[in-house]
Amino acid sequence: MPLQKKRNQVHWLTGQFCDAGRESMYRQSIQENVRLEFSRALSVATLVFGMFAISDYYLLGLTSEFYLLLSMRAVVVSLCLLIALIVRYGLGHSYRPWLHALPLWILATGIILIIPLRPDSLPTQITAVVVATMAFYLLIPNLLTVVVFASLYLNIGFLVAAVLFTEIALITALRIVLLLIMGIVVGFFALLRLEILQRKQYALLHEERDYNHQLHAEIAHRKSLEAQLRVVAERDALTSLNNRGHFMKLAEELLQRSQSEKMPFSLFMIDVDHFKRINDTWGHSHGDWVLIKIAEACAASLRPSDVIGRFGGEEFVVALPNTNPNDAQIIAERLKKKVAELPLKEEMSELSPSVTIGVAATNSGEVDLDSLITRADQMLYAGKRGGRNQVVVCRDAIKEGEGGDAYNHTQ
Ligand code: GH3
Ligand code: MG
Ligand code: MG
Repeated sequence: MPLQKKRNQVHWLTGQFCDAGRESMYRQSIQENVRLEFSRALSVATLVFGMFAISDYYLLGLTSEFYLLLSMRAVVVSLCLLIALIVRYGLGHSYRPWLHALPLWILATGIILIIPLRPDSLPTQITAVVVATMAFYLLIPNLLTVVVFASLYLNIGFLVAAVLFTEIALITALRIVLLLIMGIVVGFFALLRLEILQRKQYALLHEERDYNHQLHAEIAHRKSLEAQLRVVAERDALTSLNNRGHFMKLAEELLQRSQSEKMPFSLFMIDVDHFKRINDTWGHSHGDWVLIKIAEACAASLRPSDVIGRFGGEEFVVALPNTNPNDAQIIAERLKKKVAELPLKEEMSELSPSVTIGVAATNSGEVDLDSLITRADQMLYAGKRGGRNQVVVCRDAIKEGEGGDAYNHTQ
């Protein structure tokens, strides 16, 4: 049987969850209601019990039996009302089963005591006992087991008192027994059914809540998978920069926005100088490490609005919206300086890493991203030819399909 089903199993005889933890959780969830209902029902039942003093008076007059009965009723009423008040206001949120059981025993004792005090009232008392038994089961909220014992006490006590203090024939006694058993059986099964139904409802509610939690966990898991997938699809695995495809998408958007706002736009092509030598001298893992450090240094030299990506191998590309060639040159110089100042591993102390940067810029609304990349690439190769470790800026406005000539080198 699945664990959940086992935990929600209700005992066929006690009407409680077989699992003690579940039962205690259930009782905690209904505690507030039980406290209110208990004190209300107990107060009403007690007052009804007390009001029978009027019929005592009409039957007995102001006799010593009447005063005795009145005192007994007064004691029962005061005790029960006191308990009702304590349960409602004095217990905070704690549940004391014995305190909830106590008034049933007090009321039962009061009803039993009426027989020796008023033996002639036996026929009406039988009805009172059956009604009280039903009230124990159905009106005053309590555990089924507690009510069973209290109702047995009431009925057996009443029967014993009837036999001892009244002169009833055997057949009448048998009739009374049958009547009392009927009251107990009806009350027991009605409460058992109610207890089982309430717990099944509670279990269903919990199952639904559990399913909801599982659903939320599943949604969160899927969202995290989605985020991981997005990283895989958009990021370069080694440097964590945008990969080429994602860079192109972001750069395209930035270029279009710059063009629609008639703002300048610049683009860098960055290539690490003599990178092959690094691999050849210190191995590929050191090469990877240098590449990561250079990527970090490049990203750190840019503004939040700029977008950088790994174009391939040891080449990076940067899109700089709202940036004219002069500003682009300043940023590229800063970036080149950062790479040159990179702190390296001890064994690589003789290495002085450098990059060559080709810069293309546009003010025109007609240039597309590919033309800008081609132009920046041309500047990059001009820089390589010019001795590396430099920034080469293309200074003329590029139109689609054209290349510019005027550029300046900085070293
Ligand atoms: P240049 O100054 O002309 O750019 O010289 P270079 O040596 O940097 O250029 P070349 O194109 O000859 O070599 C690039 C090297 O970069 C070759 C390749 O093995 C290495 N490379 C490309 N991607 C990676 C990588 O992810 N990790 C490592 N360790 N090396 C890489
Ligand atoms: Mg290269
Ligand atoms: Mg290179």
